[in-house]
Amino acid sequence: MATKASAKAKPATRLRVLRTERLSPGMIRIVAGGAGLAQFTPTGFTDSYVKVVFPAAGVTYPEPFDMRRIRAEYPAEQQPRTRTFTVRYFDEAASELAIDLVDHGGEGLAAPWAAALVPGDEFTVLGPGGGYAPDPAADWHLLVGDESAMPAIAVSLESMPADARGHVFLEVGDERDQQSLRTPTKVSLHWMRRSAGDDTAQAVRELDFPTGRIHAFVHGEADLVRAVRRHLLNERGVARDRLSVSGYWRRGRTDERWREEKAAEKAAQKPRETSREKSGYRAGG
Ligand SMILES: Cc1cc2nc3c(=O)[nH]c(=O)nc-3n(C[C@H](O)[C@H](O)[C@H](O)COP(=O)(O)OP(=O)(O)OC[C@H]3O[C@@H](n4cnc5c(N)ncnc54)[C@H](O)[C@@H]3O)c2cc1C
Repeated sequence: MATKASAKAKPATRLRVLRTERLSPGMIRIVAGGAGLAQFTPTGFTDSYVKVVFPAAGVTYPEPFDMRRIRAEYPAEQQPRTRTFTVRYFDEAASELAIDLVDHGGEGLAAPWAAALVPGDEFTVLGPGGGYAPDPAADWHLLVGDESAMPAIAVSLESMPADARGHVFLEVGDERDQQSLRTPTKVSLHWMRRSAGDDTAQAVRELDFPTGRIHAFVHGEADLVRAVRRHLLNERGVARDRLSVSGYWRRGRTDERWREEKAAEKAAQKPRETSREKSGYRAGG
């Protein structure tokens, strides 16, 4: 059974690129190895993730890499930046760790970095963290996301028993990015095309929910996640503890900007939700 990784304990692992693969026009796989992987401890979660460290230009940090020390000792402009990616697989025997990144068109820090990597390049990751794995006791599973959540959804589907039931809604901008995912036969995979409206959330609203206990995973672009989360909590009466929700990124915002917004939204949400819960508001089932 997976145990929740401590938010504080984020070991650093130095990795060396073994190869990169273009999985589809919009998705790059980085397969990395290196002696550091011997110390890498998987979480057991299917949404396990690492933070890739991007050093500030011209700055070399002391080894062993210690993010807490760097945060305490380096001025803001010399702090490294980070970007978060799901562990698509960790193969201990082969000493390989793979992450799949969306190549979203030349913008940003991580996407152009990944596109330019060559074997032998080195980088540091922090983690792993994580928090979700499909509950084997659930009667059915609902997984909703976009390309950024495809790695976590793929790992989750691979971990399910052959008789698992459920529905997956995966949104892509380009149908050539639809991957062939190993899916239990009673789990229906609905590929959605990104639209100007909210077709993916609407498809979830229109879904004829199977009976029984749900376990839901809704991760990806923030507006999609918010629309589906609201529907599940407010209209379907799904209990909060049956729902794993995370806005991975937001359109038009860098990761730094989105993290600030997310923290502010969470802070604003808390008092509202606490008072609703006190007044008997049923946030979940
Ligand atoms: C726990 C967790 C797990 C994640 N796992 C993965 C994963 O396995 N694979 C993955 O690709 N992403 C994953 N993400 C999302 C990823 O961290 C963000 O997309 C991140 O912003 C990418 O950084 P960047 O430097 O490329 O772009 P940024 O510098 O952060 O952003 C630059 C611009 O690109 C846009 N942008 C960012 N991401 C996307 C996108 N996916 N599609 C279209 N436009 C985008 C931004 O809105 C912004 O306008 C995960 C996030 C979290 C929190």
